[in-house]
Amino acid sequence: MQKDPLHPAKRRLWALLFMLGFCLLVSLAVSIPVSHQSSSMLYKFGWDRVSLRSGKTLGILSGLLLMVQLLLASRIKVLDRVFGLDKLLKTHRGLGLTLLVTAGLHPLLVFLPESGWTVPFRLEHWPEYLGVVLLLGIWSTALLALFSKSLGLCFEKWWLAHRLGTPLLIVFMGLHALNVSESFAKGFPRSFLLSALAASALVWIWIRLRPLRIRSQAYNVDRVDPAADRTTTVGLESTPGRDLAYAPGQFGFVRFRSRGISREEHPFTLASNPADKQRLEFIIRAVGDWTSRIPKLTPGETACIDGPYGLFSYLCYPDAAEFVFIAGGVGVTPFLSMLRHMETTREKRATTLIWSNRTRSVMILGREMDRLEQTLPALRLERTFTREPGGRKLDRRLLEQLLEPCSREARCFVCGPPGMMKDMRKILVRLGFSRRHIHQERFAL
Ligand SMILES: Cc1cc2nc3c(=O)[nH]c(=O)nc-3n(C[C@H](O)[C@H](O)[C@H](O)COP(=O)(O)OP(=O)(O)OC[C@H]3O[C@@H](n4cnc5c(N)ncnc54)[C@H](O)[C@@H]3O)c2cc1C
Repeated sequence: MQKDPLHPAKRRLWALLFMLGFCLLVSLAVSIPVSHQSSSMLYKFGWDRVSLRSGKTLGILSGLLLMVQLLLASRIKVLDRVFGLDKLLKTHRGLGLTLLVTAGLHPLLVFLPESGWTVPFRLEHWPEYLGVVLLLGIWSTALLALFSKSLGLCFEKWWLAHRLGTPLLIVFMGLHALNVSESFAKGFPRSFLLSALAASALVWIWIRLRPLRIRSQAYNVDRVDPAADRTTTVGLESTPGRDLAYAPGQFGFVRFRSRGISREEHPFTLASNPADKQRLEFIIRAVGDWTSRIPKLTPGETACIDGPYGLFSYLCYPDAAEFVFIAGGVGVTPFLSMLRHMETTREKRATTLIWSNRTRSVMILGREMDRLEQTLPALRLERTFTREPGGRKLDRRLLEQLLEPCSREARCFVCGPPGMMKDMRKILVRLGFSRRHIHQERFAL
């Protein structure tokens, strides 16, 4: 069961400890070409030696980054509680780019001091050729991740390839490192590499076993109702004793066992009130193939949830004196959960929700919002429309006007389409809100 969100001071302390651990690992890894140099280094002098040593260092760094990539994407709960899954995945994407460069520079710098650039095609040189396969594997994985959208690749197929390909790359990396260089033949470097490979194997097994763990906590679909234009509310009922504990605003990965919809796993905000332990609710807008089939779900079918994840919750900032929520369209779901929870806890802190929609017809659970506005005395709800007659886009002037009564110390939470979130962040900073107090939830991982 998930515990309460960590206090920001504790999160900072744990983040610092994790970062120190990571820096220690990196310094141990990159010290290997100096502390345990191979015989090839003895015949190189001057720039040749610098080049060979830098090449080896970058190779080892790439191997370590590859294993860290697995860890970042493994949805380990303790890491999520400290950093938030969205930040971990953002770092995963950034490190992917770094890996692209370090792995590419590794053979370049190792071979630069050599007179020839080719390795004779003989069986004894298999570790070098495995290195070429590894490099091509790393590049294609990173480039596909970067350009999958522009190439029009189906998310599920690309993701499956990514998930199956990465462990294979780690195996190739282990075999390459253990056999290509004398440095890993014995002593500390060999133990270091073997322990890191064993840790990666454990993480991988843990990830592969996740579906089994989740399957044991199935929920019954008990409600499938239209919530607005192209939007469906899916209600779930939990079995007593197996309720999911989550903070309002968090999300989970859901997989339905249904005749009308495939078993793909998709992330959705838990829009329900966490205080109501027996009931869960998702509000799902049709944007693609899978979400368009959601109305085909029928009561009595089951859902498995992996979660909760994320730090997009007002409970993560207990010291905040005031909150500003800005929602665009279906991005209102985390705020709905937070407001429902605030109603139960009789929240007294001033809260402003600015909710922008294209038209009234796409507003989700408009009646419930009206009710929350009545029952939550500390809530100020501002509805704005972009395509209604007289409607306006949420621009700087409008936001300045709407946020005029709010303290610049307020914690701001923004969730909506990517373009809108970028604009909102810029405007909020210009209006005097602290960058550190602006939290965003992207509806894409
Ligand atoms: C943290 C989070 C919370 C979300 N909460 C909600 C919500 O409350 N309500 C809602 O309507 N939508 C929510 N979404 C968006 C929702 O996950 C996508 O709209 C849905 O997965 C699209 O699936 P599709 O196959 O119909 O569309 P597609 O057209 O196939 O996909 C559209 C985009 O959604 C993303 N996506 C698709 N499949 C997956 C997947 N299996 N895993 C991860 N991302 C995927 C990709 O970025 C893709 O480009 C949330 C997303 C995230 C990350």
